[in-house]
Amino acid sequence: MNELLKNLTEVVGVSGEEKEVRLLIRDLIKEYVDEWHVDAMGNLIALKKGTGAHDFRVMVDAHMDEVGLMVTEIDSNGTLQFEGVGGFDDRALLGKVVQVGPKKLTGVIGARPIHLLKANQRNSVVKMEDMRIDIGAKDKDAAGSKVKLGDRAAFVTEYEELGPTAVGKAFDNRAGCAALVELLRAEPYPFDLVAAFTVQEEVGLRGAEVAAYSIKPDVALVLECTPAFDMPNKDDVSPNVALGKGPSIYVMDRGTIQDPRLVSFITKTAVSHNIPYQIRRPGGGGTNTAAIQKQLGGIPAATMAVPGRYAHTPAMMINLNDYANVVKLAEAVLRQLTPAVIKRN
Ligand SMILES: [Zn+2]
Repeated sequence: MNELLKNLTEVVGVSGEEKEVRLLIRDLIKEYVDEWHVDAMGNLIALKKGTGAHDFRVMVDAHMDEVGLMVTEIDSNGTLQFEGVGGFDDRALLGKVVQVGPKKLTGVIGARPIHLLKANQRNSVVKMEDMRIDIGAKDKDAAGSKVKLGDRAAFVTEYEELGPTAVGKAFDNRAGCAALVELLRAEPYPFDLVAAFTVQEEVGLRGAEVAAYSIKPDVALVLECTPAFDMPNKDDVSPNVALGKGPSIYVMDRGTIQDPRLVSFITKTAVSHNIPYQIRRPGGGGTNTAAIQKQLGGIPAATMAVPGRYAHTPAMMINLNDYANVVKLAEAVLRQLTPAVIKRN
């Protein structure tokens, strides 16, 4: 059992309330770093001093937050109205168990049972605004004594390993956080490495923007968990990225063209270390790289990700070999990265 992934995915950190994740990560890394602090946004920033071989600073980012829900109103019958914190497909929500507020009250995202649906209702998608979280309270006062507006609700999924794959919630992006913890636990790098466990990625890359500004790195690497769509599909049989085929390397997404020098350095490093990799099909999506690379006078940045099925739902699936290879490839890249890789002529 990968205890790091288990512990990191089972804690709760819906965007803006990452404290539980941050405290866990702080305890996991503090013996392996030279300094750490928490900035005004809630980013956990840790410095691992290098050997001094290269005089530059490398930032490695992994966002701590996960998508979830926020209580927006309590109805007279005691059920809770909510909105999404981060992006959702409403269809993934119905009938799911959530943990609500700091006391982690159990709630169910309620739906009219199929027995009571009319034929036309069976064919339509229930919108989030028509769903309620039911915490079993008998009325508004009873619910209001336990829950307040603005409380978050998060999915509840126990981490489990199924052979080469693992199932759990929030692999996006606790897989990246776990990888970054492992990188910090390794021997010092040839340069100062600044780890940024960032907040509020799912609501607009907000923590990373601030972290990159204060860290002022020469290069940044973003560790992520990217949606894999490799399921049987009648229309298009080529997956964007697939489980088990190695770290997913970004070239372009909605917010970036990844630094081409870094992309080629990463892929060459993968080849020379016999680590499998896959180019993520260029196109939609986005990561903290978009916020980081436009910070200050511009920061060369690239993204490496663990492919994960069913992103932004209660249960994701990753392949543990992909995870291990992301750690391996990221470490190999950091061991060999020199200022020459990003030098402009
Ligand atoms: Zn993510």
